[in-house]
Amino acid sequence: MAAQTEFVIGTVCTVNLFDKGSPDAYREIFARLREIEARMSANRDDTEIAEINRNAGVAPVGAHPDVIEVVATALRYSEMSGGVFDPSIGPVVKLWNIGTDFARVPTKKELDAALSLVNYQDVVVDKAAGTVFLKRKGMRLDLGAIAKGYAADEVGRIIAKHRISRAIIDLGGNILAYGEKKGGESWRIGVQDPSSERGAHIGVLAVKNKTMVTSGVYERFFVENGKHYHHILDPKTGYPVSNGLLSVTIVADRSIDADGLSTSVFALGLQKGRALIESLPGVAAIFIGEDFSVRVTSGIAKDFHVSDPRFHTVDWN
Ligand code: ADP
Ligand code: MG
Repeated sequence: MAAQTEFVIGTVCTVNLFDKGSPDAYREIFARLREIEARMSANRDDTEIAEINRNAGVAPVGAHPDVIEVVATALRYSEMSGGVFDPSIGPVVKLWNIGTDFARVPTKKELDAALSLVNYQDVVVDKAAGTVFLKRKGMRLDLGAIAKGYAADEVGRIIAKHRISRAIIDLGGNILAYGEKKGGESWRIGVQDPSSERGAHIGVLAVKNKTMVTSGVYERFFVENGKHYHHILDPKTGYPVSNGLLSVTIVADRSIDADGLSTSVFALGLQKGRALIESLPGVAAIFIGEDFSVRVTSGIAKDFHVSDPRFHTVDWN
């Protein structure tokens, strides 16, 4: 059955099930994506996340295990990144409104007020009770940096359940390359050119049964007075992270990890980001700089090749 595409979880999702892709499997996958969106979207007021946000500073809110899992994992990446990844960044995200028609540069005063409400250490997950509590009024969770990864893993679970042996899933650039190509070959997945619109690739990564997730300046942004403002925000300053990187691509086994790490490592920058990736088994990264330099961590050095001549691979240090 041919690939299917729907707009869900805030992005264009394409599912391509090879071999045994049945209408049932497609239906179950898209129903699951809609369910995850209904629990976790930060842009709807009928989700569990919205309920948790409304109860900030008031009371813990009972949440579905999906939500508990994603918030708990997000907090792990906050710890691991020294706080540059912060799922309580919601008040700052809302101020910028990047990705909507109302995007604008906030004033310093607005940013300071919003920043005072950002601190992942004030997010309390009680796994036993199944609740999430934001300690201070006005706090706001935003799982935009990690929920798509969770969703991709859930799609993978459904694929396995249906005994489908190979599939390619693209949830707005979060790629799950499930199984291997017919004949046992690797999938060849294009790495997005971060200097252009979606679709162009700088090179190709050969993988089997892996997920690949990219965070970059091109994904969601707006331009004001000639300046480019993108959507990965520094929880210290409230401004878009600016460290010479155009994008970071993570290759891993679990998409929630790849998604959490793509945002964390982008925010950490080249050297600290590299150190984090090299400390984690089974995870690799591709860093693309503003100077069109490409650096790859040791895990995938042999599997990734740059084909666009404007980009050039360089060694570390
Ligand atoms: P994308 O969603 O385009 O794949 P990311 O995974 O990098 O990209 O997530 C970016 C989103 O995460 C932003 O749109 C915002 O909702 C949220 N966000 C922005 N800055 C941070 C941050 N420092 N820590 C955690 N989440 C963030
Ligand atoms: Mg991410």
